[in-house]
Amino acid sequence: MQPALWNSTLMRRFSALDRIYARIEDSQQYFKQASTQAGNPIACPRRCGTCCIHFTPDVTALEAERLALYLLVEKRDLIDPFLGRIEESEKAGETWDSDKACPFWNPDKPGENCMVYPGRALVCRLFGYCAVLDKKGRPSFALCDKMPPLADRGERIFTGEETLRGLFGQRPPLMDEFSREILALDPSGAGERRSIIEALPAALSKISLLLRLAESDSDSKSALPAAEPGFGLSSTTPSAEADSDPDDFPIAS
Ligand code: SF4
Ligand code: SF4
Repeated sequence: MQPALWNSTLMRRFSALDRIYARIEDSQQYFKQASTQAGNPIACPRRCGTCCIHFTPDVTALEAERLALYLLVEKRDLIDPFLGRIEESEKAGETWDSDKACPFWNPDKPGENCMVYPGRALVCRLFGYCAVLDKKGRPSFALCDKMPPLADRGERIFTGEETLRGLFGQRPPLMDEFSREILALDPSGAGERRSIIEALPAALSKISLLLRLAESDSDSKSALPAAEPGFGLSSTTPSAEADSDPDDFPIAS
């Protein structure tokens, strides 16, 4: 019998999520190139990586499960320290505020601070390079305070499609659009996002159980996506991902 992890719904959702992540990367590259050509280059200072000193991300259940699968297959050594830190924090009666440093942020590796970079969630992927809709529904882009100001402009928030295209050649990727797409992958989640501190332990338990079931079924081993070059999200080829169809995902039904 086919183990539950390779159930087509879950794997198709992971595959669709990977393709959204790849499109985010593509659209950020286009935005960076366009901003450079327009004379207002948007770029992080070299080896900055300080986004997560005071930030712990919120994720959907699907994003947490995708990250759990990444950890269980490629970064197992990070799991115990992560769970240990949560346990310690609970024992000490501390609450994990969203402005506390992310548990996967490594201060000792400037420029490569994220220990789960290939598996990080939507909000982490959009740091520095996205617009959000303001109360009037207009795209608004805030320059990260670690980035230099634009030449001859004192302000750091730019609003409106026309303004953004004028300054940067194109509008930055819109967080609301990608966020909606991700929420639509799992309608049962009711749009809920939870702190990675709450969501990831449950996701690890679920995916770990499914992996154990898969491992106990010798027939299933050929279906393990670890054999796929794109399983580590970092190694996915955006164009190849974008070209693939969710129904073509190599899973048994
Ligand atoms: S988004 Fe901002 S804080 Fe993060 S690496 Fe870029 S400049 Fe630094
Ligand atoms: S998962 Fe990585 S990118 Fe996201 S907040 Fe944590 S350290 Fe930063």
